[in-house]
Amino acid sequence: MPDPTPPGSGRPDPAPPGSGRPDPAPSDSGRPDLAPSGSGPWAGAGGRLIGLGVSRGRAAGPVMRMAAPPTLPPPRPGTDAATGPRTDSGTDPAAEASAVAAALEAVAADLNRRAADASGEAADILEALAMIADDPMLLEDAQERARAGMDAAHALDAAFAQHRDTLAALGGYLAERAADLDDLKHRAVAFALGLPMPGLPSPGHPYVLVAEDLSPADTAGLGPDVLALVTERGGPTSHTAILARGRGLPAVVACKGIMDVPDGTVVGVDGGTGELAVGLTEEEAAEVQEADRAERARLAAGRGPGRTADGHPVKLLLNIGSAEDLRPGAEGVGLFRTEFLFLDRTTAPAYEEQVAASAEVFAQAESVIVRTLDAGTDKPLPFLGLPGEPNPALGVRGLRVDRLLPDVLDTQLDAIAEAARKTGAQAWVMAPMVTTMAEATGFARRARAKGIARVGAMIEVPAAALRAGRLLQAVDFLSIGTNDLAQYTFAADRQHSALADLLDPRQPALLELIAMCAAAGQEAGKPVGVCGEAAGDPLLAPLLVGLGVTSLSMAPVCVPAVREALAGLTLAECRERATAARA
Ligand code: PEP
Ligand code: MG
Repeated sequence: MPDPTPPGSGRPDPAPPGSGRPDPAPSDSGRPDLAPSGSGPWAGAGGRLIGLGVSRGRAAGPVMRMAAPPTLPPPRPGTDAATGPRTDSGTDPAAEASAVAAALEAVAADLNRRAADASGEAADILEALAMIADDPMLLEDAQERARAGMDAAHALDAAFAQHRDTLAALGGYLAERAADLDDLKHRAVAFALGLPMPGLPSPGHPYVLVAEDLSPADTAGLGPDVLALVTERGGPTSHTAILARGRGLPAVVACKGIMDVPDGTVVGVDGGTGELAVGLTEEEAAEVQEADRAERARLAAGRGPGRTADGHPVKLLLNIGSAEDLRPGAEGVGLFRTEFLFLDRTTAPAYEEQVAASAEVFAQAESVIVRTLDAGTDKPLPFLGLPGEPNPALGVRGLRVDRLLPDVLDTQLDAIAEAARKTGAQAWVMAPMVTTMAEATGFARRARAKGIARVGAMIEVPAAALRAGRLLQAVDFLSIGTNDLAQYTFAADRQHSALADLLDPRQPALLELIAMCAAAGQEAGKPVGVCGEAAGDPLLAPLLVGLGVTSLSMAPVCVPAVREALAGLTLAECRERATAARA
């Protein structure tokens, strides 16, 4: 890994003696034994829910649900949505036509309001959607159907369907926008039916966002008024959980019963333990918010590079999705997830845009490992236009996209190399989902030909872990993606909330694979880091160090607690933990 650490820089403040860290061994249930939160609102007699804590921190506030898309009721008597409008429907055509106009106006106004609160790419997308909702042809078509006897909701539904087909038939960019119409249609129909608009709520005050599930694009678009996330489904290493962690937003997934909590109920969320205290008073909510502020301030006061108590250096690096995620206090970037820049995009990002995005990060961080686009499965990139697959996690994702679209990787490597030249940075680049020696060799050859200084492979597939020593003959470093390595080792979907015990990174089989990679790195004299979510868990980080990894890369919000955890143990103690866990 890059070594920007100035020699002789200070050690972090050690963890207070007897700080009561729980033992990191898994419980019988296979779930982590996290510290009981113990006091304050969580100790009270109020209602409690429990899920999987996936992003540490606590927050409290009123629940607001992300409404589901509306279900269209059967057409009113006399209307027939299948065969078209009839004039004997019994609706008031003029009133329905006005309701159509009011719904489209409301949708456009809501999107414009959200665009005004957003910035950059997000604002552009929202404005573009508002323009579609304002399209006079769409209004005219829906009103014509209403005047001919359809109720407003069905008229809107039919007009949007027509519009969608027209766009799809035009092909190219316009065809790609066709999917956006579904979202607009749901909003307009919900308004016409008097239902809450689907999508993210914007109540005008801070709130705890509750949803059945969230897409990475939803999570990427969250505004500053979201205090915490709670979902009924979702797994601990899903990209939604990762995005929440990246933003330092407390998050709980797989929380059964959360969809029954009425909007407005004040809840306390503990993103570490996964506990929810339901029905807090305002004073209790303020207490939770204050305790979170104090804990973050305490941890942030720790400084310096990563070290065990006896001074063994372990680089603490950042996982980021863009320059906006950068925070001071780490020793570089260990994983720049470039695909997060383009989750919403339906057109390919231009070369210049890619140069600018990398250069922005290179200019602000001392050392950066850029991961080439990891598209596919739970991170679809619409602009790639990849064909649908029956089994996407085992399909064309990560480096495999290169088989279908080699220009995408070439353009990205050129852009990274150019950004490095412009900023004087040393670019380290790695590929996701490397599986074979041939893939590693091919990637390294192409990256080096572009002038990339250091080339690496992610270890996310057991086949690659088993051949780590060989891969290190082709590349300069390895970075272990424990999220996918767990998914593929245990054949358990990383988004599946009911399989979280299988995905627990302390499973001995996973630890064996990590140990093999670390040993291969030591033999080759090359760095082997961990950049999966396990690296940011203060209970797991010492164990990974005990297995022999040389760096830990994590969401910025995790760095202080990991630094504190390492500083509280010697390297020998870390090794003892690793040995015990493997046994
Ligand atoms: C991983 O799989 O552990 C990883 C770091 O990559 P991602 O989570 O982005 O798939
Ligand atoms: Mg991965």
